Amino acid sequence: MLKNFKCTRCGKCCYPPRLYPKDREKLRKVGCSDFIEKDFRGLSYIREQKNGKCAFLRKNKKNYSCKVYRCRPRICREYPTKLINGSCEPEMLVFDKYK
Ligand code: SF4
Ligand code: SF4
Repeated sequence: MLKNFKCTRCGKCCYPPRLYPKDREKLRKVGCSDFIEKDFRGLSYIREQKNGKCAFLRKNKKNYSCKVYRCRPRICREYPTKLINGSCEPEMLVFDKYK
């Protein structure tokens, strides 16, 4: 994550992130292996909701939260790595499933 970056918890970037082996291990330890799936190339991701968002994204009254925040995947912990025109919103994200 960028230094001094303040996330407003708008939830816009929370599309199913790719999972690395340690991410899968951590999710399994907290009983979330059912939320892990593979694509046609054998790469792992968190399952998506019907609206395309990550299955762990939750909406509270005012903002969004992550159900597995303490053990969220590496990509989520590192995001955003850069801002474009001052914005961290998703178009240019590392969350793209097909990169
Ligand atoms: S798009 Fe930016 S502000 Fe919104 S949840 Fe993601 S990191 Fe936070
Ligand atoms: S794991 Fe949490 S932080 Fe990462 S995309 Fe899903 S809801 Fe967002």
